[in-house]
Amino acid sequence: MDDRVRLGVSSCLLGERVRYDGQHKLDRYVRDILGPYVDFVPVCPEVECGFPVPRPSFRLIGDEAAPRLVVTKSGEDVTERMLAWARRRVDELAGEGLSGFVFKSDSPSSGMERVKVYNEHGMARRSGVGLFARTFMERFPALPVEEEGRLHDLGLRESFVERVFAAKRWQDFLQADPSLAGLIRFHGTHKLQIMAHSPSHYRSLGRQVAEGRQQAFGELLGAYEHGFAEALRVRATRARNANVLYHIMGFFKRTLDSDAKEELTQHIERYRTGVTTLVVPLTLLNHYVRRLGNEYLREQTYLQPHPFELQLRNHP
Ligand code: SF4
Repeated sequence: MDDRVRLGVSSCLLGERVRYDGQHKLDRYVRDILGPYVDFVPVCPEVECGFPVPRPSFRLIGDEAAPRLVVTKSGEDVTERMLAWARRRVDELAGEGLSGFVFKSDSPSSGMERVKVYNEHGMARRSGVGLFARTFMERFPALPVEEEGRLHDLGLRESFVERVFAAKRWQDFLQADPSLAGLIRFHGTHKLQIMAHSPSHYRSLGRQVAEGRQQAFGELLGAYEHGFAEALRVRATRARNANVLYHIMGFFKRTLDSDAKEELTQHIERYRTGVTTLVVPLTLLNHYVRRLGNEYLREQTYLQPHPFELQLRNHP
């Protein structure tokens, strides 16, 4: 089992000079901050598909749901060439153990959403998806994907990184212990994390696992993976996080004295009302979990869903 997260990334975001104009689009957050915690698998669709650097620029035209990829100046249609390559490449990537992908925005090959699609009058609507990005997302619907620009929004950044590390744990589970007992354990350690995102998924996934024997195991795995990915896409609000924090505090009702409980309540309320960030009450709770030792809580991914050093839980 590989311990490192493997993350697909548009090559130009790592500083590779593969753009049509011979330039790169280095993203320092992706390369320098995220980079130390992941192994990148860079993909440049246009270069890997056989186009040179530099090259003429491409654009999407026509039907927004199934646009054609053409050379901007000449109008040459390169859709089939790109799609044939993209299908082969996602087959290869299936063996790479990716836990997510960071796409370059606005690109007719790599853009994940809102890519310009031109009509016959040369007018553009931001409604397209790059051909490679679409092929990738159709092949791996449960994998987290994001664009580099959106990662500068701190909430979206935390959500993406959290889902990437959750996808990695899911893959590790599939590799190490793909059994009903393993799934029960996986769900058990993710309960509070799921609850912070979506109480309704918390209930439905719990039911699925509890009734696991009534379903073919392959089907159960597929349904759980889908529901788990869907749950983590729901935003974890301050109110839902505060509920989980109080839930954790409940485990210490007999072991903490009234002063400690009051202090903890104050920190949770400050977080809930927007005065402090999540890292404050969580640091205190992590301290109690370590000091007072609760096995169930110690294993909860909610308390440490991604490397602390990425500082994802101190955004407003
Ligand atoms: S946006 Fe995609 S196709 Fe364009 S240079 Fe970057 S990786 Fe290559």
